[in-house]
Amino acid sequence: MKPYAFGVDLGGNAIKIGLFQTTGNLVEKWTIPARLEDHGSQLLADVVDAIRAKMAERSLTWDVVEGVGMGVPGPVDQDGTVMRCVNLGWDILNVPQAVRELEPAIEKLKVANDVNAATLGEMWQGGAQWNNSAVMVTLGVGIGSGIVVDNKVFVGSTGAAGEIGHMCVNPKETERCTCGNYGCLEQYCSDTGLVHTAQLVLEERPEEPSLLRDGEITPKTICQAAKKGDAAASEVLDRFGQLMGQALTAVACTVNPQVFVIGGQMAQAGMAILKPIETYFRRYAFHAFRNTPFVLAELGEDAGIYGSVRMLFDEVKLEEEEELDL
Ligand SMILES: [Zn+2]
Repeated sequence: MKPYAFGVDLGGNAIKIGLFQTTGNLVEKWTIPARLEDHGSQLLADVVDAIRAKMAERSLTWDVVEGVGMGVPGPVDQDGTVMRCVNLGWDILNVPQAVRELEPAIEKLKVANDVNAATLGEMWQGGAQWNNSAVMVTLGVGIGSGIVVDNKVFVGSTGAAGEIGHMCVNPKETERCTCGNYGCLEQYCSDTGLVHTAQLVLEERPEEPSLLRDGEITPKTICQAAKKGDAAASEVLDRFGQLMGQALTAVACTVNPQVFVIGGQMAQAGMAILKPIETYFRRYAFHAFRNTPFVLAELGEDAGIYGSVRMLFDEVKLEEEEELDL
């Protein structure tokens, strides 16, 4: 393999880019703004320009760059076609083709869903190393998950495998989820879901004093209050744990991964978030996977660039092996 490669994490708030050595070492990372106007039509051109500028700065030519790995926040099929990406404003788009029109020198380009990429990143250099199957759950504005089996990302027939945020956990719900259905996991266990639960708990217990009654309620303040022994905050995390435990037990029944990785912005609260999930998972789980380990993600917001470049390496190795077989 050539000595360098780029990993890109295309997010709705910002685009993160990493220059890697193909030995796996991250040389430099930086962030550029994500211009969402005109249905995100400038995003790929901005990525290509940023890569060209970095190469010029470091006097690198395409002769020494193996290719580019890219994670995007939406369903992606095996060819790198994005099937609508609401956060970026994209409709159906073949990303490798679009990038090659901008820069024909990029021969090797691997595109995948960002959470799938992050899962591979955590298995490569983060919290889930030394495993060949893992499910990573990202908790934030939404809930996503990446499924890796035998070191391969499982994308499903329409690229939607791992959309556990839209698993129905309460068929009696009367409020709609952003997807249009009722009772999705995301409605209760995303950051807004957790805040909503906190408001409900406070309404149910009007007489009970709680730290949550002072100031803004966020996942962070809920976790901090629970650590101080606040009963209402503990109840919020308990309900969160019950639903997450229920959902992940269903995932384990289907996938039976070696490890669960808990990541995303809410996981920055650490054990306060992880512990209730693990407690209820152990309570509900079938005996054969009751002891599945739970770990916190370690690469933070860098997991996407690590994973996307790793996917590129895997694809290149696969192609090389296929050539040897011929
Ligand atoms: Zn939903």
